This record gives sequence, C-alpha cells and structure tokens, in this order.
Amino acid sequence: MSDSIVFSGLAMSEQQALGTYHTYFNAFDSVVSILSAAHDPDCLVDMLQVLGQASRSSMTGLYLNDEQGKLAKLVAAWRDPDCRLLEYTPTPFLSLDYDQYALLADTLAVGMVLNKSLLELPLAEQMLLAQVGIRQLLCIPLLQGGELFGFLAFLNDSDSRQRDTIELRLLAMLSNHIAQALGKAKLEAESLANQHRLRALVGATQDMVFELDAHGVIRHVWSGHPALPAAETLLDRPMAAVLPYELAHELIRSLPQVLAGQSSKQFNCVLPQQNVCLLVRMQPVGVEHQRSVVVLLQDVSALMHDAARKKTLLETLNLLDEAIVDVLPNGVLTEVTSAWGQLRALEPRDLSAELGRTLYSWVHPEDLNLVTQLIERQLLSREASCVRFRLLRADHDFIWVELRLITHFGPDERATALRGVVRDVTVAHLNEQNITQMALYDGLTRLPNRLLLDTEIHRAIDEAARAHRKVGLGFVDLDHFKQINDAFGHKTGDDLLVLLSQRLRDALPDNAVLARWGGDEFVALIPDLADQRELAQIAEQLRLSARQSMMINGMETQPTISVGFAIYPDNAESGEELLSAADHTMYHAKHAGRNSVCFYSDIVHLKALGREHVAIQSRLSSAIRHGGLQVFYQPIVNARSGDIIAVEALARWMDDKSGWISPELFIPMAEKVGLIQELSEQIMLQSFAKLREWRESGLSQKLMINVSRSQLYLPTFVTTLVERLANFKLRPSDVIVEITESVALTDYARQMRHLRQLSDAGFVLAIDDFGTGYSSLSQLHDMPAQMLKVDVSFAQRLHTDEGRRVMQAIAQMAQGLQLDLVIEGVESLETVRFLQGLGVNFMQGFYFSQPVPPGVAELWMRLGLQAKM
Ligand code: C2E
Ligand code: CA
Ligand code: CA
Repeated sequence: MSDSIVFSGLAMSEQQALGTYHTYFNAFDSVVSILSAAHDPDCLVDMLQVLGQASRSSMTGLYLNDEQGKLAKLVAAWRDPDCRLLEYTPTPFLSLDYDQYALLADTLAVGMVLNKSLLELPLAEQMLLAQVGIRQLLCIPLLQGGELFGFLAFLNDSDSRQRDTIELRLLAMLSNHIAQALGKAKLEAESLANQHRLRALVGATQDMVFELDAHGVIRHVWSGHPALPAAETLLDRPMAAVLPYELAHELIRSLPQVLAGQSSKQFNCVLPQQNVCLLVRMQPVGVEHQRSVVVLLQDVSALMHDAARKKTLLETLNLLDEAIVDVLPNGVLTEVTSAWGQLRALEPRDLSAELGRTLYSWVHPEDLNLVTQLIERQLLSREASCVRFRLLRADHDFIWVELRLITHFGPDERATALRGVVRDVTVAHLNEQNITQMALYDGLTRLPNRLLLDTEIHRAIDEAARAHRKVGLGFVDLDHFKQINDAFGHKTGDDLLVLLSQRLRDALPDNAVLARWGGDEFVALIPDLADQRELAQIAEQLRLSARQSMMINGMETQPTISVGFAIYPDNAESGEELLSAADHTMYHAKHAGRNSVCFYSDIVHLKALGREHVAIQSRLSSAIRHGGLQVFYQPIVNARSGDIIAVEALARWMDDKSGWISPELFIPMAEKVGLIQELSEQIMLQSFAKLREWRESGLSQKLMINVSRSQLYLPTFVTTLVERLANFKLRPSDVIVEITESVALTDYARQMRHLRQLSDAGFVLAIDDFGTGYSSLSQLHDMPAQMLKVDVSFAQRLHTDEGRRVMQAIAQMAQGLQLDLVIEGVESLETVRFLQGLGVNFMQGFYFSQPVPPGVAELWMRLGLQAKM
C-alpha cells in the first residue's frame, strides 16, 4: 500500500512531492518507534505531536470509540503552542456523540476521510468547532478488521491550509498503521488485563491455576502457590519433574481420563512435606486434537483444619453428660450428641435412628402440652427458655429432664431451628418433690397435712360455690388411742395410725381428701356433694372400715372412730367455720358414746344448750370464788318423838340470771370443772360456823354433810375435815358424813379404807341414796356405816303394794343389820304413818320441811316438829 502512495505522488511537482514524502516518511519512522517503545498514554501525545507537525496542523487528537460505538472519546491531544486555537479543550470536545454529528459519523462509518473547512460543515459540527476557533477539519477513521474503533482529528485555525491528495493519502496510510498498532496494543492490554484479573481472582485465595498439554507438560501458569515451585520453574516442564510427587502422581493418573472425557474431575491431595491440603480440579479445554487440561489447585488446608476442629468440638460435646440436640421448628431431631443415647437408654448403634423422629414422641403425655407450647413460644424469642418434662426411655421408664433451648434465626430473621441442652434432673426433681412432700404432707401417714388441707378446703368451697354443690368435712378421731399408745408404746401407736389412715383413705371416694390433723385426728374432705344423704353413706363406710379388726403388735384389735361431719354451705359459710363446726360435732359424737358418727345438723339444737351450759359454768366459778353459795338446812325427824335429831346441809345457788339452780346441775358441774373442793370448803365453813353458833345457843342437833366422790379420794380429806371442825371447836361426833351408795360401792376396797378412816376419826357415816346402788347385804355388813338414807324414789312408790313391800323389806334388813334408817322424801302424813308402822327410826321430807335458811332451821330445831306427827 505504501508503494501505491509513492507512485501516485509522482504527478505532483517534484520538489513539493519529495518534501511531502520526506516529511511523512520521517513521521512514519517516528510513529513506529514511538508506538513500539511503550504503552503509556504519553507516547500517544508524542505520536500526535509527530503527526501534527508533519501535517502542519494547529492541533491533533486521538478519539477512540466506547464499547457500544456510540461515543468517540478524546484519548490524547497535541496542540501547536503557536496556533490561534484556544488553549483549553471545552467539554463537548472530550466526548462526541456520533448521533449528534451525522456527517462525521456517516463518513467515518464507511471508512472515508472527512476533510472540510468550517463553512462546509453542517450546523452541529460548525457550532462545536467554532467554540475553539477551528476553521479546517480533517478526520481519518481508525479501522481494525473493517470495524471503526476511533479516528484521528487534524484541526487548523485557518482554512488556508489545504492538503493535496498525496498528503491525504500519506496521512491515511500513516493512520492505518497507527490503527493496526493501536489495535494490537489494545488486544495485548486486554489479554494482560485478563491475566491480571485471573491472577487477582485465583491469587487472592492462594489458589494455583496452570495448563497441562496432553503429554503432561506445563504450558501456562496463571498464578502460584507459596508451597509450590514458582511459575518460571514450572513453565514448559513435564509436571512429574517439577511438582511434588503426590500431586504429580495423581495428575498423571487422571490426565488421560480427563482428556478423553468431556467433564472435569476433582480430588483431594495432601502434601505432607508442605503441610498443605489441596482440592484439585482438572478441567478439559480446547478442541479435538488440541486438547489440554486446566488444573485448579485450591488450598483447603484451613478448611480441613476447621473441619477437624469442628469434629473435635463435636467430639467434646459428646463427652458432656448433657445432651445437645438440634430440633426443627416442628420438633424433629436433626442432630444429637451421644449423651442423648444415654438419656434415652439406647444402644450406641441406635442413636442415628433417632434423627428425623419428633421429640414429642418421647414426651410424657401429661407434659406434652407444656413442651409444645414452650417450643412455639421459643420460636419467637431470642432469649433462652427452659422446661422440665418426663422423657420416655427405650426401657419404657420415664426420667425427668430439663431442656434449655435457644433459637437459631436465619438471615431473613426467621427461626430455622432450635438448639437445646438436655440434662437428667430426676434426682433433683425428686428431691424437690420430697421437700414439697415434707412441707405439705404428714411424714408418718403420707397424708396431706393441715397446710395442704387448708388449700384443698378453700378450693373445694370455691368450686362448690360456683357449681351450687355442697362440701362435706368430717373430723375423724380414733377412740382410745391414748390407752393403746400408753399400753403398747408409740411404735405400735404409729403402726395403728398408718393402717387406719390407709383404710379410711380407701373408704373415701377418689375425689375426697384425707388429711392428718395431728395426733389421732384425721379430716376427710368430700367435695362436690349433692346432699347429706350421700355424705351419710360415706360416713358409714368410714366407720365400718375402721371397725374391721387388725393385727397390731401381734394382737387383734378393732379400732373404733368417732366422726363429726359438717356441710358447706348448710352449716358454715367459710372453710374456718366448716372446720370448727365439724370439730364441735366430733366432740359431741365422742361424748355420745364412741364408735359413732354425728352430723352438725343433729346437734345444732344442742348447741344453744351447750352455749348456755358454758355460760352457767363460768358464772358458777365466780359464785364459788366470791362466796355466792349458801347453805340451806333440812331437818331429820325422829319418827317416834318428832324431835329434830339433825339437819342436812344442802348447797344452794341463787344465780342472778337463772334464779335458783338445782344442786343436781351445779354439783356435777363443779366436779367436772374441778371446783368441787372449793365448793365443799365453802359449805363446810358456813355450816360449821352456823353449827358453832347453834352450839353456843344450846342446840345439840347434829349436822349432816354430803361428801362427793372426788372429795373422798383426797388423801388429806379426813385430816382437813377434823382440822376444820377443830377450828370451830367442833368434834367429828357433831357431824354425820353422807356418802352415796354408788360412791361407796365403786372401787369398794379403797372406799372401805376411806370409810374406816372416817369412822376411826369418830364420824358417823350414812349411806346416802340407798337403794340406787345395788349393794349386797354382805357389803353393807362390812361397811363401817351406822345409817342408811333410803332414796327419795322409795318413799314416792309407797302408794303401790310393790313399793310398800320393798320398804318393808328394807326396814327389816336395816333392823337385822342394826343400822339406823332415814327415809327421805316423806311428803305426807300417810307416809309418816306407814313408816312409823314399819318401825323406821328417822324421816326427812317436805312434809316436815323443805331445805330452809339457817334462821328457819334454827326455829324448827328449838320448837321441834311434834305438831306434824
Ligand atoms: P341428797 O343428799 O339426796 O339430798 C336430798 C335431796 O332431796 C335434796 O335435794 C332435797 O331438797 C330433796 N328432798 C328432801 N325432801 C324431799 C321430799 O319430800 N320430796 C322430794 N321430792 N325431794 C326431797 P337437793 O337439795 O336438790 O339436793 C340434791 C343433791 O345434791 C343432794 O341429794 C346431794 O346429793 C347433793 N348436794 C346438795 N348439797 C350438797 C353439798 O353441800 N355437798 C355435796 N357433795 N352434795 C350436795
Ligand atoms: Ca344427802
Ligand atoms: Ca339422798
């Protein structure tokens, strides 16, 4: 092509043509040397300067197209410092849009030169060039393989610079060369960039890439690995000679296979000397006869170490007693440590079979809700949570485990799995249960204690109140427990209580509660009752269950119980009231004779009486203490003469509220509350003082005093009595001591001692209320008594034949035994006559006088009762 330029220029004037040739050949040399020398951008400016000076342009520029070929970008420019063009290059010049400059685009696109003065150009181009002061424009396209990739611009500040055809051809030729050189440089740069990119890519991970030909010779090395020889030593060498043995061996073995096949091959390779693990990938490239293999060596040492570390970590987890489990949100197990096998009592080989099964299948049915709810809640939480449940073991036992859970959240913040730690807490759990047991249950019988009972009562009452039902509560007391305990010891007593508690429990309905109240007292709580009839059946079952004989300490015994039941809401409004009502009823049952069941409704009418009783008791106490008792006297009359031989001192109590109260009520009461001593003391002091007065006034009648059982039992009774009398200058012979027949006969031997003591001390003894105590004749004979006081009831039966025959027999017997006879309860003259006929010695009764105050008694004593005879 250069030849054709040379020849075509021969038409010009010789000198001119030679000059032009000369200039351009020099320029060509310079450009060639500049472009081959270096790739830096400065060389382009140098090249443009050469071009500018050769073509005598004011400015030259190199435009290269962008990727899409829509824009031409100014890559380099040279400006003649002496030209009139503006020194700076305005922005529109830096990037030209081919769409805006249609003439330029179209001309270059077909590979033509655009050579125009300013005025010949379209408006768009004119306006662009005018900004800088360009008057003349020459653009030569740069083509490679027929493709436009840019252009060279030659600009002049005046349109006087006209180039002839030769010069244009020379410029075109030069530009063509530049285009070739630039195209090559561009390709090289691209290749270089690609290599850099590849290096950057593989080098960053310490991976190595090289290419093997079919003979196993290394043809390209793109990046290296510090543990392997450098690229220079590898290139064009057979790999067996340069690569470590282990790697080369594997590569050689696999090479034919990879070359023959279409697909890649991958394997692991450990280089022990270099302490490196490699993942090797062989990838076939190229076509049929020119096939080669690209080898990628990836250093996976760190990964392998990581994996090994993880494995060790997992093995460490396997050493823990706690099992680590991974659970999916639906409860399916995905991972377990070996402790899980121990918790579940599995053979080690069965451990893997657990995976894929749901945790819920081994949770105790009663705990299942708890566990599922916890997992559901946990899936929404970032906090750890904890639950205790019973885990089914392979041996069908349940153990108590504690599961602590945390949630694993995926990158999208959704819960993907749960990790849990499971440990066996059976021992701790049972201990805690034990403590609860100790706090709420009785140690001996294992029944609920008062504390737990209290809770149960309140719950039962709340429920009954809602459902309009009733609650029964019974106090159960074992009869004679104290005697058993005293006789056989506490161990036997305990055995009895345990046995009994089991029986009672069995006799109660399932929903009932039997609690130990303490000692030998139990409480049965029967919730959800319909009526008292239902309760009566249960109560009877209780009573019968206790009644069955049991062996205690080798002895057969038949325990009995006393039960008192009260019902909510019939008898009480609260738990406390219910307990108190039942307790009260139970005491009543006890007193009604043991082995009985009582209901509060049965004793409620007695309750008022009882209350009254309590009130009287307390008033009696203060009456006794404050000397509120009086003594009345009733004369004992000689049946023949009508003389008063004695007066009986009878206690009288005038209560402010209730009026005169019978000694038959207050004497036993005083005995029961332990006030009988004080009462007797008062009666004695009053009556002895009165007797002293009567003696002073010349009266000689004896005083008859009543002595109760408990007085007689006092060891000091006789001596105290003698002392008291002495205090009033009285002698035992001034007093007749009345002792009722029943007292004299019970504990006969002992009473005989007491009676003898009294007799020996000089007292006259009278057997009071004779006829009510069934004393035998021989007993009467042995007694040191001198007097029999026949009970009031005999005098009152004298209107019958039978009554009269009995009285007759008594009179004959008394005479036979040489005992003085006092007939009490004489209320009529008729009776007096009858008794006189029997030869009775003495009489006492309303017919002669009621018990009267001392003044009246004194009057009777002085006057005598002859008038009544
Ligand atoms: P008692 O020793 O048998 O006393 C006689 C009771 O018969 C007296 O009852 C008297 O009022 C009553 N009585 C007397 N004549 C008649 C009569 O013609 N017809 C009827 N129906 N009853 C008559 P009282 O005073 O109520 O005494 C009852 C019991 O109280 C006494 O029975 C006695 O056992 C006891 N008692 C009275 N005072 C004392 C006392 O100071 N000490 C002791 N330990 N007991 C006393
Ligand atoms: Ca009496
Ligand atoms: Ca009597």
